[in-house]
Amino acid sequence: MLMPTRQPLLRNAMTIDVEDYFQVSAFAPYIARGDWDARECRVERNVDRILALLADNKTHATFFTLGWVAERYPSLVRRIVAGGHELASHGYGHERASDLTPEAFRADVSRAKALLEDLGGQPVLGYRAPSFSIGKSNLWAFDVLLETGHRYSSSVYPIQHDHYGMPDSPRFAYPVREGLLEVPVTTLRLGGRNLPSSGGGYFRLLPYALSRWLIEQVNRRDQQSAVFYFHPWEIDSEQPRIAGIDAKTRFRHYVNIARTEARIAQLLQDFAWGRMDEIFLPSHANEVRFV
Ligand SMILES: [Zn+2]
Repeated sequence: MLMPTRQPLLRNAMTIDVEDYFQVSAFAPYIARGDWDARECRVERNVDRILALLADNKTHATFFTLGWVAERYPSLVRRIVAGGHELASHGYGHERASDLTPEAFRADVSRAKALLEDLGGQPVLGYRAPSFSIGKSNLWAFDVLLETGHRYSSSVYPIQHDHYGMPDSPRFAYPVREGLLEVPVTTLRLGGRNLPSSGGGYFRLLPYALSRWLIEQVNRRDQQSAVFYFHPWEIDSEQPRIAGIDAKTRFRHYVNIARTEARIAQLLQDFAWGRMDEIFLPSHANEVRFV
């Protein structure tokens, strides 16, 4: 059956957290950081597939890129920028902000920003903490982001979750410091709870029509742009399987992974998408593009 044509009310932000399958926080107990270089890297080919998919749909997105990846794949960083996308930071080493001291966090985000700006040749304004790891216990991280020259963060998930989340924090973009905007990933308020509506494992788990409905509700009811996120490894059903992991981690990482690329292609068609800076820092995006 053909779906009726929809006129999207608002443009939403499409974001990609550029990291490889062995770097996800849930695998940290199983894969030593020192072993990363020995693993088969899949991130370059997966990001190239995403760049092709976005180009096919004439869509620009924001790539929150790990410094670790940028250092090893400098030409990939340049292809992201050449494609008209926003290059933003996911930190250097994918350590949760909540696991670091303020000094170590500052070193990590400064290193990533300098590396990305050097390779991309443009200012890096945005930062997303690994595993949405800014919450009540480490709000000092916002001061560090501001001091290191970031203009926005997308690091808080206003939900209840076993690994992250700050359910009482605002659901939409707000100035968390003067000169620094927090742009939380999107939730829908339903039945007194915030439902995750913005990608990740939930997008792979839920039927596509439900994911689409959640974003539509945010656009129509809340009159707000949604922020969607996914990872390059989520479109890679041939990635090496990690052995010996617990059942919950296995399910969360691999559920419906073979279907995700087609679902994202559908999502790109069903809504209008853009870069974080264009949607949430429009005056800045104009400066960069037209001056
Ligand atoms: Zn990440």
